[in-house]
Amino acid sequence: MNAPLGDDVKNEDPSVNRLQEMAAEMMGKEAALLVTSGTAGNLTAIASHTQKGDEVIMEANAHIFTSEAGGIAAVANCMPHLIPGDKGALDPDDVKKAIRDKNNEHHPRTSLICLENTHNGAGGTVISIEQMKAIKEVAAEHGLKVHLDGARIFNAAIALGVEAKEIAAQADSVTFCLSKGLSCPVGAVLCGTKEFIAKARRVRKVLGGGMRQAGIIAAPGIVALQTMIDRLADDHANARVLAEALVELPDVELDLSTVQTNIIRFKVKSGAAAFVDKLAAKNILVHQVSESAIRMVTHRHISRDDVLYTIDVLKSLS
Ligand SMILES: *Cc1c(COP(=O)(O)O)cnc(C)c1O
Repeated sequence: MNAPLGDDVKNEDPSVNRLQEMAAEMMGKEAALLVTSGTAGNLTAIASHTQKGDEVIMEANAHIFTSEAGGIAAVANCMPHLIPGDKGALDPDDVKKAIRDKNNEHHPRTSLICLENTHNGAGGTVISIEQMKAIKEVAAEHGLKVHLDGARIFNAAIALGVEAKEIAAQADSVTFCLSKGLSCPVGAVLCGTKEFIAKARRVRKVLGGGMRQAGIIAAPGIVALQTMIDRLADDHANARVLAEALVELPDVELDLSTVQTNIIRFKVKSGAAAFVDKLAAKNILVHQVSESAIRMVTHRHISRDDVLYTIDVLKSLS
């Protein structure tokens, strides 16, 4: 409420500048840029790394492909080249095979690989440092850049027991969300080299994302980076307790090995819609992903008692 403000379009908002310095430091990058959302951060990064017609390699169920309204095509003018992964992780040999021959004029140009950690579509799964490093090496051999969709990078860091910068070090640029688990009302941050962020600032302006007294968004971001990261471990523990109860229900199909952070994805054999309604009647809100699939997410406003109440309700329904 008392954040000092200024005009961020002129780099004069002290709260934005402070958040960006903190974010760059935590990601081990030279510079950072406040953006309106994770989607805006990924789009800004892709448009800054590529040229029209380029191909961008990513996992088949990547958020950038499934859930960002086709911005990669509509705005960045790039084509996604999809590779099915294993719990969200790409096989470096598959990536190698997907890279186009630069000397063949018929081929599109491959210029970027996008990774996602944690991987939302795979159930909030964590990609290990070794897995990421292997992809980074393939990228380096072929002169490609790597962008990390790290919307939930701090969940990955907590699960791996490393600092976020160790994960970010495996990519040239990274986006992370201030919203979601970090509990801010709005915002995300894109980090990379000074040169990259200068380019990204222009792209952000094109997208209408240059904001004036944006310190009112940055200030809660600063609080989040100071106070909201360590507690993500509670969300992971709560998700685990909930998942272990869910897996016991005859109507539920859940691979417990995918429950690694704060997300639980599972199928309801008798159909997801009725399941959602039955829980909603008991004040438990869950997200229907498809005809048979449900996503549950734990966060700061879901206590252990809420989880235990949910388990009681689930048992009473089965
Ligand atoms: C939520 C999410 C995004 C997009 O973030 P928004 O702030 O909702 O635009 C990007 N990637 C992943 C993996 C996400 O879960």
